[in-house]
Amino acid sequence: MFGKFFQQPAPPAVEQRSVNLAGKPVAFTLRRTRRRRSIGLQVDDRGLTVAMPLRASEKWLHTVLQEKADWVLKKLESWQERRPAQPQWADGEPILFRGETFTLRIVPSLFDTPPILQGAHLIVHVSREGDPAAVEKIVEHWYWREALQLFTECVEHFAPLMEVKPREIKISAAHTQWGSCTARGTVRLNWQLIKMPLHLVDYVVVHELAHLVEMNHSTAFWRVVESACPDYARLRRELRKWSLAIPHGKREQ
Ligand SMILES: [Zn+2]
Repeated sequence: MFGKFFQQPAPPAVEQRSVNLAGKPVAFTLRRTRRRRSIGLQVDDRGLTVAMPLRASEKWLHTVLQEKADWVLKKLESWQERRPAQPQWADGEPILFRGETFTLRIVPSLFDTPPILQGAHLIVHVSREGDPAAVEKIVEHWYWREALQLFTECVEHFAPLMEVKPREIKISAAHTQWGSCTARGTVRLNWQLIKMPLHLVDYVVVHELAHLVEMNHSTAFWRVVESACPDYARLRRELRKWSLAIPHGKREQ
């Protein structure tokens, strides 16, 4: 009975903390684990994580953090630079559409209405003023609708030229591919392509349609691509640059 009374409660396994490193407040995740014998620091896209033995002292933790302060700050900074800017969905923000940059204009209104392109602006009427989530939803809905229309036109243009008959076109939100194509003829195209110049959309569409002829990336496949898109090598390189500019967007093409 008494033993229990004096026993200290186990510290939480995971905790959110903050520490002052070289004058800067740094938030970090603290994990305690039985498996560790030393204090380990890791910095990645989620920030700083510290792993330490279950009963390690606060003093030890403090010493390690101060010793590694420069390393942590440098690592955090380089992750910050690598992270693409996340849209805030605020008035005046740049909006990419078909390879051009428009300025988002938010107009408070009684009702939400689909966005309208006017000159260099994308005008969005929102009923809930100051609600970025509402703006995001409206603009993304518009992106998807425009994407489906553009991709359909593109496929209708290239499919007869390439003598292929896709069964259906779907919009995807894949994080790793601009497009994909199944043996059954379903062509999926990433909605984020709507942000790019048309010649890149053409290339991705041609690439996926060519898979209806060759389900691989063989020399024969690239000949099919070339027949509809002679400039494909340059476009492939250009597409890779976009991969970096669009969060999550990566290549398969
Ligand atoms: Zn492919």
